[in-house]
Parts: sequence; C-alpha cells; structure tokens
Amino acid sequence: MKKRDLVTKLSVGVLAFGMVVAAGCSKQESVSVDKKVVAKTIHWKMVTTWPKNFPGLGTGANNVAKLINKMSGGRLQVKVYGAKELVPAFEVFDAVSRGTAEMGHGAAYYWKGKNEAIQFFSTVPFGLTAQEMNGWLYHGGGLKLWQEIYAQYNLVPAAAGNTGVQMGGWFNKEINSLADLKGLKMRIPGLGGEAFKRAGGTPVNLPGGELYTALQTGALDATEWVGPYNDLAFGFYKVAKYYYYPGWHEPGTTLEAIINKKAFEALPEDLQEIVRAACKIVNQDMLAEYTARNNAALKTLINEHKVQLRAFPDDVLKELRKLSDEVVAELAVKDDTAKRIYSSLKTYREQVNDWHEVSEKAFMRARSLK
Ligand code: CA
Repeated sequence: MKKRDLVTKLSVGVLAFGMVVAAGCSKQESVSVDKKVVAKTIHWKMVTTWPKNFPGLGTGANNVAKLINKMSGGRLQVKVYGAKELVPAFEVFDAVSRGTAEMGHGAAYYWKGKNEAIQFFSTVPFGLTAQEMNGWLYHGGGLKLWQEIYAQYNLVPAAAGNTGVQMGGWFNKEINSLADLKGLKMRIPGLGGEAFKRAGGTPVNLPGGELYTALQTGALDATEWVGPYNDLAFGFYKVAKYYYYPGWHEPGTTLEAIINKKAFEALPEDLQEIVRAACKIVNQDMLAEYTARNNAALKTLINEHKVQLRAFPDDVLKELRKLSDEVVAELAVKDDTAKRIYSSLKTYREQVNDWHEVSEKAFMRARSLK
C-alpha cells in the first residue's frame, strides 16, 4: 500500500522510475503506471517553408525534429510537414503564431510583411557572415532582440541553420554593369531584393519549389536560391546559362525555428532546453554540411553541366553596396524596434569587421598567396 501511495503522490512521469516501482506492485498497477507515461508524450507539428526533405534546408528541419525526439527519449515528438502539406510555405509564420502547428522552420525575411525589422534576423545585404551572425545572436545581444520582437506574435525564435555565403544567382545574360540589371524580373528576397529594385530590377519573392518552372516559362528572367548544393538539386543549370557570385544579398543567411510561445512555455524546463539545444546543434551542423557539399556541387555544375561561372564586376558590387546601405538605414528609422535592432547590428558589424580584417580576411588572403 505504501508503495502505491508513493506512486500516486509523486505522479511519476519517468518511465524507468515508473517501471522500478511497478515491479514491486501487482500486474494491474504496472499497466496503470505505463498508461500514465504514454499519456505524457507530447506531439508537435512542425510546418516548414521548404519542399519536404529538400537537401540542407528541409533535412535541417528534419534533424531538429529527430534530435528533439531522441534527446527527449520520445517524450516530445515532432512531426515535420513540407511546404503545402499542412499550410503553404508563406503561411508558416501565421500557422505557428495561432497554434495550428506548434513549430515552424523557415527564414525571417519571408515575414517582412509583419514587420520589416524582422528581416535583420535572417540576413542583411553586405552584412554578416555565418560566423559573425552567430556571434551577434548568441553573444552580441541579437537573440534577445529577436525574442522580444517575436513575442509580439506569440512566437519564440531560434537560429536553426545557416547556409553560409550564398551565390549571386542564375542569369541568361551577362551582367557587366548596373544597367544590365534594369528591367530584370528576378527572384530575390529580403532587403537584397529592395536594393535590386533600386538598381532598376523587379524583385519577386517565390517559394523555392516554384523557381525552376518560373525560370523555364520566362515568368522570371533570373533567380537566386542558395548555393551550388541546393541549386544543383533544383536543376537550374538546365534553364539558365550564367551562375554569378558572390551572394552579396545573403552573406550568411540564418534559418529559423519558430515555436508557438504558449506551447513552449507549457513544456517542462528540460524539454525547453532540449528544443533550444536541438536548434543550436542544427544551426552549426547545417553550415558544416553546406561548407562540405557546396564545393563538390560547384565542381559538378562546372565540369558536368558546363555552367559558366561569373563574378559580378566590382563596379556593380560597389553600387549594390551603396543601395543596400541606403535600404537598411531607411528601414532602421521606421520605428523604435527597428532602430534598436539596427543599432545593435551596426555596432557589432563595425567591431567584428575590424577584428576580421586582421583575422579571417587576413588569413584567407595569406592562404591564397601564390
Ligand atoms: Ca537565397
């Protein structure tokens, strides 16, 4: 009897402990303890902006779910849905905000319609590299600001992947001057898209899964997507001739996991930490995967598919840099939140730039000396 009282009072949730206690009880009691354990399993849905299982981005979302499932010993089980399976790609933010799904995976610049300042948490043209972005988020005050702004939408954000420096995009004509961008209809999201608009282009935001057809039918003249690994998978080399670099508009894009705030706060502390840790692991691992796979894919594109690699001319980059800085600075004065985020990012960028002049950049240059 004593043992049974103890079980009732403690309301045991841990399977191992429950089984030890149950071992001393009758068979019937054992079943009831196990039932209690089963009832405690939490099921979450994760909606994503990516085609299901898409290499790097979609598999990164899968990895977040897998890690949470494993690290929690199955107590929190997350099921991943590709774009359109439960909600369309660009409805992920709203779906998680209202609790249709408890979790989402995407990129903050897709939600600029909510608040333009949100874009600062994915990437800024001519902004931070992946390494610098993680420094800002984790140790430079960035994540705190991100949590503050997303709380208004009943969301908890976490960095959950990074692509590294992206490619400039796929074109069917050469870009020799800024004038060559005029009139071009190009898929290019975020603040980079706004800078592209000021250069005379027409930026379009389409989900990745629709880009190949849009380029093939001529609905788009050009597109950027991610980098060689992902771009090879979509087969853009079949419908575009030139592959430009660097991705001035996305120097180290952070992918995000968003969690419904109420659902997150209802979790016990250890499961909350597991969710945070899973995102952090994938944030690092995705960058490692891209770093390893992009160079192999670039070789395949050039050697097997005869893609013509082109660098944007310095003059074009300088102009785009000027336009980008204008766009970002204008955004920064729109409201108080944007001002605070921009100020934090700007101060950090100046400092990290000085440091990387004598570290990363100096070393990369040294390594390239012939
Ligand atoms: Ca991109």
